[in-house]
Amino acid sequence: MFENGRLPTQDRLHWKHDPPDMKCPLCKNFMDSHDHLFFLCTFSLEVWRTIKHDTCLYGFDERWENIRAALIQGRGPWKKEQRLALQASVYCIWRERNRRLFANRSNDAIFVIKEIREVVLQRMAWMTFEGACSYG
Ligand SMILES: [Zn+2]
Repeated sequence: MFENGRLPTQDRLHWKHDPPDMKCPLCKNFMDSHDHLFFLCTFSLEVWRTIKHDTCLYGFDERWENIRAALIQGRGPWKKEQRLALQASVYCIWRERNRRLFANRSNDAIFVIKEIREVVLQRMAWMTFEGACSYG
């Protein structure tokens, strides 16, 4: 879903009554939009930069339209763990946004980075396990 730029950020919703607070729940500064969330937001940018460093994606793009174009055209982070890291980053940042918006709980960037690392490790382990089975 995220590859299409269609996650329902607040700029895409139409409100029948009073509009809610449209500020980004992560940095509380800018309008909540897909492009802002991935990765112009100072919070998500901090997370993404750390994950990029983790997975040797130095210099890889921080603008969502370019990341998306790279994904569609098959350019960009395309070692398995790099693709996983990108997907996990989007997933965990999105989840943190929703926690703040709907559950009134918030975690810092360090926590989200830890979550992303765990998701990547789990999925890598699972893929290795599946690979081992297919040779059995
Ligand atoms: Zn923000």
